Amino acid sequence: MADPASDPSRFDIAVLGAGPAGVGAAVTAAWAGARVLVIDEAPQTGGQVYRALPEGITLAPGVRSLEAAEGARQRAELEASGAQLVTDHRVWMVSEGFRIEALGPQGPAKWQADRLIAATGTHERVVPFPGWTLPGVLGLAATTILMKSQRMAPGRRVLVAGCGPLLAYVAAGLGKIGAQVVGVADLAGPADWARALPRMLARPDLMARGAGWVAQIAARRVPYLPRHHVLRAEPGADDALRVTLARIGRDGRPGPERLIEADALAVGHGLVPGTELTRLLRAAHDWRPERGGWIARRDTEFRTSVPGLYLVGDGGGISGAAAAWHQGRVAGLAAARAAGIGDAQILSDRITLERRALRAAEGFGRAMSAIMAPRAPLYAAIPADTPVCRCEDVTRAEIEAAVAAGATEVNQVKHWTRCGMGPCQGRMCGEAAAEIVAAKQGASRVQAGLWTGRAPLRPVPLADLAGDFDYADIPIPKPAPL
Ligand SMILES: Cc1cc2nc3c(=O)[nH]c(=O)nc-3n(C[C@H](O)[C@H](O)[C@H](O)COP(=O)(O)OP(=O)(O)OC[C@H]3O[C@@H](n4cnc5c(N)ncnc54)[C@H](O)[C@@H]3O)c2cc1C
Repeated sequence: MADPASDPSRFDIAVLGAGPAGVGAAVTAAWAGARVLVIDEAPQTGGQVYRALPEGITLAPGVRSLEAAEGARQRAELEASGAQLVTDHRVWMVSEGFRIEALGPQGPAKWQADRLIAATGTHERVVPFPGWTLPGVLGLAATTILMKSQRMAPGRRVLVAGCGPLLAYVAAGLGKIGAQVVGVADLAGPADWARALPRMLARPDLMARGAGWVAQIAARRVPYLPRHHVLRAEPGADDALRVTLARIGRDGRPGPERLIEADALAVGHGLVPGTELTRLLRAAHDWRPERGGWIARRDTEFRTSVPGLYLVGDGGGISGAAAAWHQGRVAGLAAARAAGIGDAQILSDRITLERRALRAAEGFGRAMSAIMAPRAPLYAAIPADTPVCRCEDVTRAEIEAAVAAGATEVNQVKHWTRCGMGPCQGRMCGEAAAEIVAAKQGASRVQAGLWTGRAPLRPVPLADLAGDFDYADIPIPKPAPL
């Protein structure tokens, strides 16, 4: 039998995701002396926030980016740590004993680890509205990918709408790369921002960055529309969009409407923790809307209810990049200590230090998360014929019909309607569908249920799932002679 210590596919600790949380975990676990593997589907580390520019694309001379600098610093720290990095590999399956299966440019790859640190981040929440599937309408967070990886704007005139810190970040960034921002429609109002302020003060550096974006938007005289929501988008002349917005009243209902024309609409209603992996591994989850939605239950060192499985970063509740980094570092140290690697006392002392830095960063992140919490009236306003699941083209009316026919929770609705069964596996529609199921039943989100995690975590071609399998190899016994 192969010695596990010399088996190149076996590791003490595997880290899934190389954003700030994953890199933080990998560097501390490797520092403690563990054999660490880090896997990411992106071509370079950095995750969403520290996404690296692709080869051949550079920042314009004189342009400084704090994110690019922090990303480069984290990349260098990871390289020096001795952790093994595998990029361009999308993990589609993790099974018992942390057997990890991925698909890369050269085909399938497999590894096994004694402990797994999940650092898989978030996805975007977009509350469906008529026209949300039109060309030119894209997510707010998705717009950051376009801006960061290609230095491109989605159109010449862009309307930016939704909630949370990405609103100001995207509006300021689009202005910098030459787009005209025709308006910033914020779901939150001054009172919401005032409530968030005390916790934001815990990180004056991050506050100053946000204030800088707001100042840039104001300097360009971009109209700011507080407490406004997109009601619908329709095709206009010359490939433009006609976007109807309404001011949200105190009761959460739309008030007077206004029309804005734009080439593109960047719209996002917050971030949702990515729970595909923790659901697949059947970890216990809790409904925490103020942290983004369903999140896996964790202790103070980020252990989940599944032995050996840790969860760090925004996938465990929206806390932002700064908190993700420190959470990762705590979990990396804790996982190494649990594996009996390194000096337990030294590791515990370092965990205490990291936890101090984490507290300040988390305060800021949680204030942002509260601003992005799901808003029930927006879901209530989705018209009956609007597609909710855009992969399988399932409307609100079809989801409600399934509930009326007896479906009591989201998994039954999925089986009956195919809502959430498409390539995105419910990442885009899951939140809206669950809100609709809960509202139709007059039940809570907890009663509406949690989507059961299923492989594949990411779409994979059937040929890669089958591997070397050949039907002719199935040992079918010959029929017995009569
Ligand atoms: C589209 C998007 C854009 C964002 N842009 C910004 C921004 O510009 N500024 C900002 O402050 N915050 C941004 N955020 C929020 C931001 O994600 C977090 O605050 C921060 O990056 C969290 O770090 P993390 O390490 O927890 O997750 P992430 O940075 O999201 O890292 C998670 C990593 O896991 C990898 N991964 C996940 N699943 C798999 C899998 N199955 N196989 C292989 N790899 C996998 C992903 O490729 C990713 O690199 C964005 C969020 C989203 C969804």
